[in-house]
Formats: sequence, C-alpha cells, structure tokens
Amino acid sequence: MQYVKEIVAFGPRPLGSANHRKVEDFILAHLKGGDVENDVFTANTPEGNLPVHNIIAKFPGTRDGVIVIASHYDTNYPLRNTSFVGANDGGSSSGLLLQFANQFRGKKLDGYSVWLVWDDAEEAIKPDGSGGLPREMPFEQDSLYGITHLRDKWQTDGSLKKIKAFLLADMIGDADLNVEHDANSTPWLEAVVYEAATRMGYQSHFFARTMEVDDDHIPFVKLGVPAADFIDFDYGYNNVYWHTTQDTVDKLSPKSLEIVGTTMLETIRILGEMQSLPPK
Ligand SMILES: [Zn+2]
Repeated sequence: MQYVKEIVAFGPRPLGSANHRKVEDFILAHLKGGDVENDVFTANTPEGNLPVHNIIAKFPGTRDGVIVIASHYDTNYPLRNTSFVGANDGGSSSGLLLQFANQFRGKKLDGYSVWLVWDDAEEAIKPDGSGGLPREMPFEQDSLYGITHLRDKWQTDGSLKKIKAFLLADMIGDADLNVEHDANSTPWLEAVVYEAATRMGYQSHFFARTMEVDDDHIPFVKLGVPAADFIDFDYGYNNVYWHTTQDTVDKLSPKSLEIVGTTMLETIRILGEMQSLPPK
C-alpha cells in the first residue's frame, strides 16, 4: 500500500508526461541490480506518436518455463489534463508488483521462473465512453499498445513459447473487493485461481460475477498462452469511480492488495507443483 501511495503521489502519469518519466525511474530504481529487460518503442496512436516503456524484471526458478505477472502503470490518457491519478487503475497493481519483486529477489524460486511486467500504454488514447457515450475507437485498435508490442517481441525472440501462464492484475485495490470470473481468461487457469483463493480462505472475494473482460491478457490469449485476469470491475457502486477523478487512494484497502497478492502467490505455487500445465 505504501508503494501504491508513492506511485500515486507522482500525480497523473499519462504517456509522454514528466510524471510518467518519474514513475518509470521509480520502478527501475526499485529493480536496480536485478535482471531487467526494457522494451522501449514509439506507438503510433490517434493522437500521434507517443513513447512507450515496458519494464520487465526476471526472477529465475528451478523449473523450465516462465510465469508472467503483469500490471499496467500508465494512467488514463483522455483524462490527462484533470486531477485523475489512477490510484486503483494503474496504481494498485503496480504497487503490488513492486512488493512481489521484494519477495522474489535474491533467491531461486521454487517452481517456474517469474517475470514481473510493468507494461505501458494499456489505456485507450481516445475517450472510452465512461460518460455513457460509445467509445470513439474500437478497443482493440486503440489500447494495449505496450503489452501487444512485448508479446510480438517475445514471439520473435522465442521467449513466448517458454511462458506457461500469464497472470494479470488490474484494479485490485478496491476496499470492497470482488474479483471477476473472466470468461475471456483460460478456464483451467481460472479454476486454479479459485482453488488458490479457497485455500487462503479468500474465496468470498472471487468470482461472484462472470463477465468478459478486455484487458492486457487478450493479446496472449489470442496466441494460446493460458491467462487469468485478476480484476474487480465494480469500483464503487456500479463502477462509478472508474476513469474518474474519484479514483483516489482513500477508496483502497491494504487488505484487498493482500488478498490478491496472496492468492496470486498461491496460484504460482500450485502451478509450480502441477506435473504439467495444459497448453491453453
Ligand atoms: Zn483504465
């Protein structure tokens, strides 16, 4: 939670902004001395060329294969000139991954290697219709710039075939935590997540509702990588805080971060003990 507060304290962090640069440096400083991959490129967007910086931290395990845990760290672009700070949307999951880095640092992990990904340019560049109007551009054409680029890069360099599972965290800090059962995620992996939550005693926070979530996992799902999205898409009554200036730290709870964090760690522990993982 302290990391979430520190990220949010930089203010709005849209692509191309000075604050975005500061949070990049903040994440990189946290990872200093470790095995870090940078994926830096220029995205061609409806608002012109914008700089994108994915940050990957790699932690080796005892088994052959990789589990990716991802979170986007950019904040909503259309709200860039407001006080929008994305405490939950961008902040919560990015802070959680910083704490994962502390957990994984300096020892060989039991099970698969873990690659933590702070991906960039997840948010759509054109307004997304959160005011009730249809969005200006189809979601697939105007978002997920960073993670799609990274997937393509990993496909080219051969990394993609090492990835056993892709776990995504997004909007996981809401004090009233209800992680969705995502119909776009991989069914067997969602079942493992629910098993992990149940073992931790947190199942009441999981899967009360089933919906199809469009998020950073989709480019990996499309290429057959098993994926699970940890997202609570009911942020405030009827998702009323989502993509508004009401997305502030006071709406979050450290307990929610703990529930998602613990369940993710238990999920990778279970995956590490499975004889083999289904391909998709
Ligand atoms: Zn968002």
